[in-house]
Amino acid sequence: MARIDLRDLTLPEMAALLEEAGQPAYRARQLCHWVYQRLVTDCAQMSDLPLALRQWLAERCYVSTLTLVCRQQSVDGTEKFLFALEDGRQIETVLIPAPPRRTLCVSTQVGCALGCRFCLTAQGGLVRHLRPAEIVNQVLFFCQPGQTPPRPFTNIVFMGMGEPLDNYRGTVQALRILTAPWGVGISPRRITVSTSGLVKRLEAFGKEGLKVNLAVSLNATTDEVRSQLMPVNKAYPLARLLAACRAYPLAPRQRITFEYVLLAGVNDSLADAQRLVKLLQGLRCKVNLLPFNEIPGAPYRRPDDETVQRFQAYLLAHGLSAFVRQSRGRDISAACGQLRYDAQAQPALTGTPPLAMLTPPRRSQGQEKPGARAESRRVESASAD
Ligand code: SF4
Repeated sequence: MARIDLRDLTLPEMAALLEEAGQPAYRARQLCHWVYQRLVTDCAQMSDLPLALRQWLAERCYVSTLTLVCRQQSVDGTEKFLFALEDGRQIETVLIPAPPRRTLCVSTQVGCALGCRFCLTAQGGLVRHLRPAEIVNQVLFFCQPGQTPPRPFTNIVFMGMGEPLDNYRGTVQALRILTAPWGVGISPRRITVSTSGLVKRLEAFGKEGLKVNLAVSLNATTDEVRSQLMPVNKAYPLARLLAACRAYPLAPRQRITFEYVLLAGVNDSLADAQRLVKLLQGLRCKVNLLPFNEIPGAPYRRPDDETVQRFQAYLLAHGLSAFVRQSRGRDISAACGQLRYDAQAQPALTGTPPLAMLTPPRRSQGQEKPGARAESRRVESASAD
């Protein structure tokens, strides 16, 4: 029988598991504490649990971790981490310093099925969803008990490889574990989930009560162009997507972030800016303009700075909050839309590790600043999702 990964479980699920062992419910909190806060991976070390229970757990359960295969650092300080999963598949996680924030961008799938034309992740298709533990472990990798401050990141964005809402259960479960006081205990205001517009999933997601921030990858102002760029638009056209955004339950000071990858000659005209203003009228939102990160095989170009500024100026002049976000980590293919599952492009799991790899990340003093707003990786680095 396959052993249970404790990092896949919420508090009630741990309680149900321990009930099988004839244990009282409070033991589940102790177990969560070891797994998500003390970061202990060996059941034998869970010293406040009875010995018999530790043995029972060790026979049936385990605590997974990720294996760091490769760590690359960009000239701008962005770091990309390549992790191996238990089945040998690989995923990428990116740490982006943009003082006072340090944003951790996590993956939710190996590959992606959504097929956005401007995205490298799309080129390999979907390999598989990540389990909740595989998402949570991307965060826990950077948390070391006893370090000060305890985490080298201020924000988390679900904008790495994959469409988070396509892996709905994995994403929601991971968010519950990451935000719960019994779990990792990260404020939901510091977490942003980005979707390309899976409307039914978006509607369900709004009802989960998770209180995380929402980003929507918009990228076009007509159905014709959006359907070319993002096949998801054929199933959920703009009107349907924006109606779902209008109905989305936001907390009092929350607003939706619309991401708009600017592609030269495709969606960067003044007419697009005009349509965008109309489309977003009345929505509590801001717009992040992301000049395209050129990738192999994509028939698109990055617009010139003047075009980007003109587009932004029009939005600002018509009452929209609009920001131009600069690429981070482009030299190590860590910028948005540049992550992909490509075994051939990745270092082998065996043999000599690449230089500067296989060490846990270091952080310097003062990199985390309490109160920093949650912001998306695609907010901070030109994006594709
Ligand atoms: S942009 Fe996002 S949703 Fe679209 S293919 Fe890439 S990873 Fe998937």
